[in-house]
Amino acid sequence: SIPLSFFAGIGGASNQGVLVKGSNYLETLSQTKCVVFDKTGTMTRGVFEVSGIHHNEMEDAKLLEYAALAECSSSHPISKSLQKAYNKSIDRNRVTDIEEISGHGVVAKVDGITVAAGNEKLMEKLGISYVSCSHVGTIVHLALDGKYAGHILISDVIKPHAKEAIKELKKAGVTKTVMLTGDRKNVADAVASELGIKEVYSELLPADKVTKVEELLANKEEKDKLAFVGDGINDAPVLSRADIGIAMGALGSDAAIEAADIVLMDDDPLKISKAIKIAKKCIRIVY
Ligand code: ADP
Ligand code: MG
Repeated sequence: SIPLSFFAGIGGASNQGVLVKGSNYLETLSQTKCVVFDKTGTMTRGVFEVSGIHHNEMEDAKLLEYAALAECSSSHPISKSLQKAYNKSIDRNRVTDIEEISGHGVVAKVDGITVAAGNEKLMEKLGISYVSCSHVGTIVHLALDGKYAGHILISDVIKPHAKEAIKELKKAGVTKTVMLTGDRKNVADAVASELGIKEVYSELLPADKVTKVEELLANKEEKDKLAFVGDGINDAPVLSRADIGIAMGALGSDAAIEAADIVLMDDDPLKISKAIKIAKKCIRIVY
């Protein structure tokens, strides 16, 4: 039978906007010593603003149009911000052969022209030589029919409670915080340093995130538990691999919410330490 205090724990968490999918997760949560975060949508808002368009010969508006059209069926936050910056309705008949490559970007035909929109990894995969960009921000490189056309620089912002969330985790007994991201090193390092996260791994493919979490799991003591916090479709495998998977509920993808053990209804990272504190209190009552 399940001790009554577990119901109180789950109820208390739910009052805080934390959905705990089972009483067993309270016990695991109470033993959490390592918290691994995804960056985009988890520690940052996942709402990008187009902050610069740099191109070779083409007009800014035209480059943005190719990007927005090629990305028209992607649900990635990068795509959403490109659609917003473009701010025109999209005639989907102009776009065919859409292929989204996770951790890279998209390739699609726009008006019969093959458009590649994504990061350096995508350009390298396609054998397109690109001009690298040292600005701090997420870069969407564009190539038209295999020829480099320029890039769009976009930036995201850190969530209001993210820094406090890290501080509070330490108070809740968490001894290690780690950030994993598919984004560029300069963006990842800037966010991690702002938040006070010392261990950060960037430019990871979704499968690399799983490998990293497995490494972290192998290098800790059995009794200490590891939580992974994420939001995206690509995070589902890591969410299930961690001792405890925590998903962002509002902005997060259905796949991530499904794969998670705990869901933060309002996407607030500060709720993680609150949930750990509730779990600890409830475990103390039980034992
Ligand atoms: P994160 O770890 O930040 O959540 P993802 O695994 O979703 O990142 O993506 C990693 C990187 O792959 C992004 O930073 C971006 O450079 C590139 N990328 C992924 N999807 C897209 C897309 N639809 N358009 C452009 N770039 C993309
Ligand atoms: Mg993500």
